[in-house]
Amino acid sequence: MQNYSVHLPGNIQFGENIVQSLPMLIPAGTRVLLVTGKHLSKWASSLLPGAVPAPPVRGELPIEDAQKVLDCAREAKADAVAAIGGGSVLDAGKTVAALLPLEGTVKEYFYGKRTIPGKGAWFAACPTTAGTGAEMTSNAVLCDPETGIKQSLRHPAMTPDLVLVDPVLTYGAPADVTASSGFDALVQAVEATISRKANTFTRSITMIAAMQIFEHLAGAVRDDHADRNFVAEGSMMTGMAFAQSGLGAVHGIAHPLGSICHVPHGIACAVLFPEVMKRNMPHAAILESLFGPEPLTRYMELLRQCGLPVNFRQYGLREEHFSFIEKNCRSGSMKCNPVEFSDDTVSEILRSLM
Ligand SMILES: [Zn+2]
Repeated sequence: MQNYSVHLPGNIQFGENIVQSLPMLIPAGTRVLLVTGKHLSKWASSLLPGAVPAPPVRGELPIEDAQKVLDCAREAKADAVAAIGGGSVLDAGKTVAALLPLEGTVKEYFYGKRTIPGKGAWFAACPTTAGTGAEMTSNAVLCDPETGIKQSLRHPAMTPDLVLVDPVLTYGAPADVTASSGFDALVQAVEATISRKANTFTRSITMIAAMQIFEHLAGAVRDDHADRNFVAEGSMMTGMAFAQSGLGAVHGIAHPLGSICHVPHGIACAVLFPEVMKRNMPHAAILESLFGPEPLTRYMELLRQCGLPVNFRQYGLREEHFSFIEKNCRSGSMKCNPVEFSDDTVSEILRSLM
């Protein structure tokens, strides 16, 4: 028997239209900063009319965007944060909630010149894409465009206080966004299942999540609402589990690959997955019980059906990028992979996807 501890958001609610209850769940007497994606800002402001709107943030959250949101929150004397959006919006909200009561810039925390001591401001996360799992985790991924470094701010107390997963927010999302975030969730579910840090509790969640996402992702990409509900739920469950179990080599390699070749995270994970899993045997044998017989053939079919690329040709991946990727892939995710990968194995994987 393995020892483990579980950190989860204090209040998790799932269901169609559940986001409408957000105004009732915000602590009384707080001044709320509202972080949203651009297209949602009007609708979100009508949901929370008293909230202070934050400036918009870009994808692959740059530290300067998070800084602008933090400046806005400090100026408005906000003491609670609600984020409604995709992964980078949630990560911006999470970062700002953590740093709001503290001194210093986002960059100082990003580069470890200052450390987060504990609980920041009250924080609610409402995801609008099904995939990143950012609503469940205690870290925020930021990127320094000047150096290409992408890493996390983390503290157990950064776990959101309230999570509202409303699949209705994903209805009508573009097919490419649905596909790449859905594949991210699927890859996360499988990596979490075979992670060195997985345990009975996390596996009981991630195996069902992987099956559910695999079965319903093609329908979700076609904007079938029932399928979207299943993918949103699977993605939420995955987030709950991988926050405890960690991920694996797909995520280890996807981060430096994404920052040097500008491959969106979900696509990087989706494309890397089969080549990494071939090298994760016998642990990856579990794929048969998740996807059915010939699991990687079925996976490739789903990838094509969802309109995602099968290699990195269009992103201009070249041999000269390999050393940066090898040097920067040894993250926490990489350490959770059930098989240890040498630099040669990493280049072999990359070469097969050029
Ligand atoms: Zn991911």
